Amino acid sequence: MSEWTDDFRQADVPVGGVRLYWLGQAGFAFRTPAGRRIFLDPYLSDACERLHGFKRLSLPALRPEEVEADWVVLTHEHTDHLDPDAIPVIARNNPACRFAAPAGCLAGLAAAGVPAARRVLLESNRRHDLGDLVVHTVPADHGDLAPSAVALVLDFGGVRVMATGDTSWRPVLFKPLYDLNPDVVLPAINGVFGNMNHVDAARLVSEAKPRIAIPCHFWTLAEQGGGDPAGFIHACATMCPDVKAMLVRPGEGLTVESFPKPPSSVLQTQYSEASIQYSE
Ligand SMILES: [Zn+2]
Repeated sequence: MSEWTDDFRQADVPVGGVRLYWLGQAGFAFRTPAGRRIFLDPYLSDACERLHGFKRLSLPALRPEEVEADWVVLTHEHTDHLDPDAIPVIARNNPACRFAAPAGCLAGLAAAGVPAARRVLLESNRRHDLGDLVVHTVPADHGDLAPSAVALVLDFGGVRVMATGDTSWRPVLFKPLYDLNPDVVLPAINGVFGNMNHVDAARLVSEAKPRIAIPCHFWTLAEQGGGDPAGFIHACATMCPDVKAMLVRPGEGLTVESFPKPPSSVLQTQYSEASIQYSE
């Protein structure tokens, strides 16, 4: 059992809180006080090099074989988010794990051996109730190559985490997620392929007004732009000094405790609450 697995299995998570881990690129893992294990966009292999020639420059925080998951949530189908070499391993080793993802991920999940009964469709501008996890989605703007890409808020009950996935800075699209008062924002900052750079990401953070902001999607694949995490911290200090902007190492755990916040009445009235199965 690796040090990472040890922490993920055993760390104390206070009631109402969540413990999160950056996995590199746009990947995060979350553990709830009830022991639920949620993975977001885990890129844990060298599939980008195998398929696109994009060499991985930083080691993954864990191997696909080490993943113990109840949910895998994906923002879109690109290889660095829907990992075609890791998802089959995760799906095989975690037979009860389910996969929530937008329509563009359908083919990739099917090819990875995830049957329809284990897939939940994430539609844009909806609230999706997944048992003790609620996922709110809005459209991301990642261009024609991923038209169903979403940005989302993972609502763990006491803590809400906003992840942008890959997108340009689109405040009008993101407004419903801002209105949820996310506690944590996880913006991409690589600044190429249509993604926000560190300044755009800091603008987003200043609009979302979370307690904590942690940048991601940098320094994993050189062809995807270097990203400027220090610039992000500096820009946040200027634009939104009340937000704790911070860097975490891949694999490092951070416990976020709950904090009183207004109810998410805007989204709850605007969105249907049904979750949807894929049909093939
Ligand atoms: Zn990406």
